[in-house]
Amino acid sequence: MEGEGVAQVLLERVRKTYASGIEAVANVDLRIEDGEFFALLGPSGSGKSTLLRMIAGLETLDEGTIAIAGRDVSLLAPRERDVAMVFQNPPLLPHLSVFENIAFSMRARKQVGNSVRLAVQDIAERLSISMLLKRRPQTLSGGQKQRVALGRAIVRKPSVFLLDEPLSSLDESLRAEVRSLLIQTHQRTGATMIYVTHDQREALGMGDRVGVMDQGRLVQSGSPRDVYERPSTRFVGGFVGDPAMRMIPAMFETAQGRTSLRLLGTPEISSTLMLDSRLAKIVDRFSGRTVELGLRPEHVRIASSNSPRDPQFAWLGIEARLVRSEYLGHESIATLRLASYELYARLLTDFSVKPHGSYEIGLDFSRASWFATDSGMALRDETL
Ligand code: ADP
Repeated sequence: MEGEGVAQVLLERVRKTYASGIEAVANVDLRIEDGEFFALLGPSGSGKSTLLRMIAGLETLDEGTIAIAGRDVSLLAPRERDVAMVFQNPPLLPHLSVFENIAFSMRARKQVGNSVRLAVQDIAERLSISMLLKRRPQTLSGGQKQRVALGRAIVRKPSVFLLDEPLSSLDESLRAEVRSLLIQTHQRTGATMIYVTHDQREALGMGDRVGVMDQGRLVQSGSPRDVYERPSTRFVGGFVGDPAMRMIPAMFETAQGRTSLRLLGTPEISSTLMLDSRLAKIVDRFSGRTVELGLRPEHVRIASSNSPRDPQFAWLGIEARLVRSEYLGHESIATLRLASYELYARLLTDFSVKPHGSYEIGLDFSRASWFATDSGMALRDETL
């Protein structure tokens, strides 16, 4: 590792209400480990930027503390925190060339001569901006400015990078390049990276861990797999994943030792349940009450004459109508109408479906998510 030190970032009971009365960040506790790539994900307005700006020292805290590398930085100025921040619209120094903008922090540290030139040229090459080094920032496009700002941050070798949607003004091909540069920088330097994005694919693809924000609260933080497969709330289930998780109100019923699940709607559909230990616990607590069943496309299968019915799935014995099928290359997503609900099913592409055909569907109740109807909290082992 060539980094100048790595850093843990610890947030305890951090709150921020703006003068307008908007509670942007509500009581966030979060520990980001040394060298971790942490993706902070949430819709616009959920408080991600405010939280990042508080870590950077650009926004005061109403309550709580922020520590970096074991040092309480809550009251320190940004430059005393050893962090580098890259914004969506990076402020560059207009009177300096791109070269001098990138070299700025090195000059401030009294670095001179060849080492500065080589470092700037190297990063400029990796960001595909070598030909811009003599230009002034005002002559650059948004995406070019953003790459200059990234270069400026990378040559500083901070122990923590704070990145606020740094790829948003890049076009698709550049975005992939800069994304891989960020991942390489992370691997080479061992720096901690906190990466704000509203794009769930980016967060799941890049983050060692993903934190999901909803209305100022950090509602889940965990591995990408955890956030996708075990969402902590209905909001997380619906926000993470494309196409979105479909929610269906349902009720468990037990009679004569058999448990069934009734999908509520018109007409109501009932299926006998095979209870694994998780489902048995949920049924035990929620029998006779409405719950919400959260289905991802991989939890829904359609039966066909040439594919055996996977016993992992509960085959409902009724047919759903194909509304459309979207071909995505390595897979297709079928939209199906079941009573009053639209469900998505993930199909392998060698599975061809007939437009407007009717198919029996199977649901994977043991992998699906379950939520309490009133609170939206996931019914998971630890909450049962
Ligand atoms: P995100 O980064 O997730 O889009 P922000 O942190 O920018 O969310 O905003 C969170 C909430 O705080 C939003 O309701 C936003 O309108 C509000 N907000 C952000 N900045 C300010 C500000 N400087 N003054 C007042 N309200 C703000």
